[in-house]
Amino acid sequence: MDTKLDKIDLAIIKSLMKDGRKSFRQVGREIKVSTPTVESHFSKMKGLGIIENVEPILNIDRIEGQVISIMVSSKTDPLKSVDIANRLSMIPEVRDVYLITGNYNVLVKVSITKSHEHIEEFVREKIATIDGIKSVSYQVIAKTIKDSQSIQINAGISVKMNCDYCENDILQEAKSLEIGHQFKRYFCCNSCLTLYKQKYKGRIEAAAAVSKSIKPKIISKEYLWHKFYYHIDSYHDF
Ligand SMILES: [Zn+2]
Repeated sequence: MDTKLDKIDLAIIKSLMKDGRKSFRQVGREIKVSTPTVESHFSKMKGLGIIENVEPILNIDRIEGQVISIMVSSKTDPLKSVDIANRLSMIPEVRDVYLITGNYNVLVKVSITKSHEHIEEFVREKIATIDGIKSVSYQVIAKTIKDSQSIQINAGISVKMNCDYCENDILQEAKSLEIGHQFKRYFCCNSCLTLYKQKYKGRIEAAAAVSKSIKPKIISKEYLWHKFYYHIDSYHDF
């Protein structure tokens, strides 16, 4: 699916980036379109996965000492990188997942609400044990200078989506699957959705169970390697 963002889409995104708590009515007044227009453009962008969520952005510095962020690089079996990245995405503490070039294949950003001594344990038990990961290395983020999901956007920007199961372009309205409260996957058709559910049944259920049991928590700001997402989120339920 190759969909162009129009001027109204952009105006809505920009307005919500300033304050995600605004109502559709307030956004409409600000950008001079009707409330139903805002609503329909917003639903379209949500349906396409361009807007993943609108949530308050947590200033991690304000809760420093309670939340620690680390960057974990993993060397993996190249044939398993995508599968490993998907598994890492399902760990609630994992915020961003990237496939990278160079000495390491997968890079993740993790935020944990635990003391320093638990980092080692977390990396060892939750990450290093994943099948196909050969070695891991991590750095603790000492201070966040800038952490922005914002990108410079212009009217006419194209949004291209690939199916999370077959990886083909999504040509029609995407079918989506919400996993826990963490993230969504998008599919080209119902059969890919069903096959994905079957393949990752255990992990999907585990993610759902974790979502129910842990609150408050940092929600993932997920960037998938093959997708161009536009996210306005950071945390929820505080
Ligand atoms: Zn598909």
